Amino acid sequence: MSTKYIFVTGGVVSSLGKGLTAAALGTLLENRKLKVTLQKFDPYLNVDPGTMNPFQHGEVYVLDDGAETDLDLGHYERFTRTSLTRVNNLTSGQVYQRVLENEREGKYLGKTVQVIPHVTDEIKARIREIARISDADVVITEIGGTTGDIEGLPFLEAIREFALEVGYSNSLFIHVTYVPFIRAAGELKTKPTQQSVAKLREIGITPHILVCRTERPLSKELRQKISLFCNVPVEGVIEEKDVDHTIYEVPLMLQRERMDELICRLLHLDAPPADMSHWQDILRKIIAPKHRVRIGMVGKYTGLKDAYKSVDEAIGHGGIANDCGVAIEKIEAQDLTPENCAQQLKGLAGILVPGGFGDRGIDGKILAAQYARESGVPYLGLCLGMQIATIEFGRHVLGLEGAHSTEFDKASPHPVIALLEEQENVKRLGGTMRLGAQEVQLQVGSRAGRLYGEFVSHERHRHRFEFNNRYREQYEQAGFHLCGLSPDGELVELIEIEKHPFFMASQFHPEFRSKPDAPHPLFRGFIAAALARTQEESA
Ligand code: GLN
Repeated sequence: MSTKYIFVTGGVVSSLGKGLTAAALGTLLENRKLKVTLQKFDPYLNVDPGTMNPFQHGEVYVLDDGAETDLDLGHYERFTRTSLTRVNNLTSGQVYQRVLENEREGKYLGKTVQVIPHVTDEIKARIREIARISDADVVITEIGGTTGDIEGLPFLEAIREFALEVGYSNSLFIHVTYVPFIRAAGELKTKPTQQSVAKLREIGITPHILVCRTERPLSKELRQKISLFCNVPVEGVIEEKDVDHTIYEVPLMLQRERMDELICRLLHLDAPPADMSHWQDILRKIIAPKHRVRIGMVGKYTGLKDAYKSVDEAIGHGGIANDCGVAIEKIEAQDLTPENCAQQLKGLAGILVPGGFGDRGIDGKILAAQYARESGVPYLGLCLGMQIATIEFGRHVLGLEGAHSTEFDKASPHPVIALLEEQENVKRLGGTMRLGAQEVQLQVGSRAGRLYGEFVSHERHRHRFEFNNRYREQYEQAGFHLCGLSPDGELVELIEIEKHPFFMASQFHPEFRSKPDAPHPLFRGFIAAALARTQEESA
């Protein structure tokens, strides 16, 4: 069977959840026993989002191979079994970098270098490369941005050419669009969708399927109208309503609309219907859980929805593992003071301090860790959250006055967190941290070992600073157990405080490896401990 290609574009407005739609389609096709891979094209000029502020672009998602990528790749990995690499995320920055390198090397043999064909060829080559590496039956390619953006044009031109080259029975275009409800008129409106499709047709792309994002159900008449005006058969007009409870509803929603069936028909894919019963079981645990807890996340971009996307998801997965609904309360670290901290954090069943950079909010995070340690509230620290726990313990238990990370205080008398040796001469900011999956060895007899049920794990990293080995003995003796180390024993990867119901923190980012059907052990353990605390308090 030849490889099939599905291209997902977006229209009318951004933030429609194109990535989610692509990922949910991946779930359905995988459950039809097809091998699927997903890739994202981002039209911005940054080489990768690693240097972008979360306010610009939400979370930076890290892959096993250390690539710093768009957060949609997180959706892809959570919704499917695919394991992605840096090849699965292409930015305009990367394309131009490559084209310019080729030009300097004389590879264009004296030709004028142009967007068409040189840039578009580079983009098409990437689609082929993904197909070759992944050996997938179906390659789903999502084009970032909105139709009509100048930046996106080379990508649209490239997929148009690509579809022609592989043949129309091997390729298909899905356009995710918006059908707004206009309150004053009391109606859903189709005009923005019509215009967006017209824009695509101008470029030479005719979508086969329109995924209509909407607040309200699409009536039969409305579907017919969209079908007629947009030149898409009515069965290709798919309703994707705002979810009631969780994003994990989307695959089932698309299945009800028979989108996977239509795709298989259009692409001549002979695949059995998707059995989604395990997915339904996951949904049941999210929508009607037996238990409920409230977790506080003390962070920096708490007003921004996507800044801690994977952490939010992984907390939810920990909930699924415990049949427990989790309400996450976002607490702005810089608003915590010694005076209001106990009051602000009172009643929380667990406290989580996520990763971060820069010194805003550091003091508030230290206060939160201190509160959790002293009052026996379960604590989970992620990356910076482990560094914070180390600073707090140093200052308040070991009496190391002024203990700090050299990221925030270069002159600290007790630099308990310091720059990794390999980082000392690094000047360029992009892609130069300690990145990606590294082996972590867990100590026999530790809580971590019991939680994981094994003693070796591969965890994803994104940091420059590290526990300072000069202080190891002092910490260990006081019960701050360094229970996970790198294979050479040189780097502290995971800590736990023994005399505490649950106080664990990792230098790595467990949130990037958690899935709804395979919750990460640290999140599973954290929510179990939070639940135990909630039950104790109400007993
Ligand atoms: N700023 C810290 C470091 O670079 C923590 C990084 C993180 O939390 N991802 O080590």
